[in-house]
Amino acid sequence: MSASGRAHTAPLHLHDTALQAHTLPEGVVEIPIPRPSSNGNDWRYQMSRLPASALIASLLIIAPYNDSAAQEREYEVTEITDGVYMFRYRAHNAMFVVTGEGVVAFDPISPAAARIYRDQIRTVTSEPIRVIVYSHHHADHISGANELAGGVPIIAHALAREKLAAEPNPDIPLPSRTFTDEMTMFVGGTEIRLLYLGRNHSDNSIVAHLPQKGVIFAVDFVSNDRVGYRDLPGFYFPDLWGSVERLQRLDYHTAIFGHGPPGTKGDVYEQIEYWADLRSWAELAIHAGLSEDEAVEKVDLPDYRAWGGYDDWFKMNARTIYRHYAEGR
Ligand SMILES: [Zn+2]
Repeated sequence: MSASGRAHTAPLHLHDTALQAHTLPEGVVEIPIPRPSSNGNDWRYQMSRLPASALIASLLIIAPYNDSAAQEREYEVTEITDGVYMFRYRAHNAMFVVTGEGVVAFDPISPAAARIYRDQIRTVTSEPIRVIVYSHHHADHISGANELAGGVPIIAHALAREKLAAEPNPDIPLPSRTFTDEMTMFVGGTEIRLLYLGRNHSDNSIVAHLPQKGVIFAVDFVSNDRVGYRDLPGFYFPDLWGSVERLQRLDYHTAIFGHGPPGTKGDVYEQIEYWADLRSWAELAIHAGLSEDEAVEKVDLPDYRAWGGYDDWFKMNARTIYRHYAEGR
């Protein structure tokens, strides 16, 4: 069964009837998929077979990503695997997918970034941008869609649209299509799944999963070898842990993050261990009767000292996790 065969026989299904009348381009369809059960046992990705093309993709050699050299330049495009690229502008990353029938571009980042992003896409393909996807509602990732490509459909989670509509920003055109659980697009035979895995860094963060390519794009709730941002503003606990667990049930070998270098599934497991270690620390500290300040003063997790942001943000992360567990008592 070919991917495009599935695409053309699938019914067009709109999850949100309150959407603006804005149709996806020809060849771009979405397929309704039931939401995962709360225990996660029948989560469909566990059962789905890995497509042969994903196995082939996993054998491709991914060009090493040179973090130190990259940081010296303001922007760059890195080919992650065939047709899948990471665009970095300063400290922010986006992903774009060249399908043979157009480009699907995620996160314009900012108006200034988006102008460069658009030109950088031109350096690898002459295909037009057909769809823009917002990873979540934060302005530092999604401003500038009109600079990237005006007039194309913009997809986001329904809650992202609600938040954006409540605080209009001229740099952030509202999503024209939204979904709540999952939306699958086939563009030029490339399957692009947009998944809502629950609340984590926001209540509307979505993950892009390219099953044929073995790639995910996950923004701000996981990363590669770095601690969480400052005091984890806007994070949902304990929802984050479940969300990351569901992420790991996807078939993928390479993750593109909103910040920092790409990583492997193993790198995401290290993130999970980091959160687990912080949770254990907080529970022990509370059990031992340490106050928040005493606990944060003493906290040190040597395994993560080499991680980005450790010196500045680790104790801020720890304080937030301590508070979460202290308040839960
Ligand atoms: Zn964010």
